[in-house]
Amino acid sequence: MRPCVVVHYHEVGLKGRNRPFFLSTLEKNLRRATAGLGVKAVERASGRILLWLEPDAPWEPLRARISRVFGVVNFARGYALQPELGTLVRGVVARLPEAGEFATFAVRARRAFKDLPLSSREIAIKLGAAVQEASGAGVNLSAPDMTIFVEVLPQFALFFFDKARGPGGLPVGCSAPVTVLLSGGIDSPVAACRMLKRGSRAVLVHFHSFPYLNNASQEKARELAQVISAYQGDSVLYLVPLGEIQRQIVVACPAPYRVVLYRRFMVRIAEELGKRHGAQALVTGDSLGQVASQTIENLTAVDDAATQLMLRPLIGMDKQEIADEAERIGTYTISIQPDQDCCALFVPSNPSIHTDLKGIRDAEAVLDVESLVQKGIAEAVDFQVAQGYGL
Ligand code: ATP
Ligand code: MG
Repeated sequence: MRPCVVVHYHEVGLKGRNRPFFLSTLEKNLRRATAGLGVKAVERASGRILLWLEPDAPWEPLRARISRVFGVVNFARGYALQPELGTLVRGVVARLPEAGEFATFAVRARRAFKDLPLSSREIAIKLGAAVQEASGAGVNLSAPDMTIFVEVLPQFALFFFDKARGPGGLPVGCSAPVTVLLSGGIDSPVAACRMLKRGSRAVLVHFHSFPYLNNASQEKARELAQVISAYQGDSVLYLVPLGEIQRQIVVACPAPYRVVLYRRFMVRIAEELGKRHGAQALVTGDSLGQVASQTIENLTAVDDAATQLMLRPLIGMDKQEIADEAERIGTYTISIQPDQDCCALFVPSNPSIHTDLKGIRDAEAVLDVESLVQKGIAEAVDFQVAQGYGL
């Protein structure tokens, strides 16, 4: 009996030439995510991916890591054995203690191909009877406490108890990389994870106003980058001082435009930094109308400074929905720590909510935009978060 993890993925929408790429990316990510946890080999088998395990592979850390690999729909710890009924029944009964407590159970058996030996009906009947006898539990097909899954493949039969949910989505690396503007707040880490879920790797860029403000926001950005790395593997985080650029904006431009102007500089600098890593779009955590800088007019004025596509995956979500998602991915408790966000530096009491593009461009024209952007890029410090998928 060979221990393994059985990983299921959806193939919907993955027809044709993209399918092998999706699968090889998913395999690679699973291999990286489980490195050092007793996985001997990763293998494709009839629409599933199998992770062959050392006998002493620790399940709990494996479970935690695999549950963060995008592209996995569900997975379970299981066993492969000879596709022969007696062997299967003995194997399942021997492993029943791993199924935990249950008063009722069901057997769900299926074959990868119809012409394989062992009919699903036969398995369900024989295995059901043996488990009933061994455990004293009853059969309940509509709402069982525990389900025994059997999958018959050409080379072997697999069985496992219950399935854990994966995060779904596309494996990181299937879509082009993006640059995420990562503040210390609740929203942008959630936006980053949404992009990872659609297959983009994220380069992270955080702007701070140190030494005008303290460095709490940089510390938070580092911690957030660590959580994001648990979903994409090693990450790059750039920490960029914005204070001097902000000071010049404050001196030379009308106060109501300040925040939009800060953002335009962030976008330009982030775009250049991300390009070093092949990023092809910019991502922010904006949600429409949440604060003054997030009106359609102001978002348009920010977009105007970018040459790449700007993506805002949270645009239609409200704060509670975003906070719930932050809780699920594990960034919420970091985000709510107090900090001094750079956008709060010299923030006017009357920010413009209906910025017109011409007004913004005219206001900015008094600055030497290009050299300020180059200064930001030159002063950016990159911080490698190299910890694989661990947390
Ligand atoms: P968040 O919770 O992500 O900070 P927010 O609701 O506070 O968002 P804003 O402060 O208006 O909204 O920021 C909007 C978006 O601009 C952020 O989601 C982020 O993508 C980007 N942004 C804001 N401040 C910074 C920063 N200091 N560094 C990098 N990106 C930033
Ligand atoms: Mg913020």
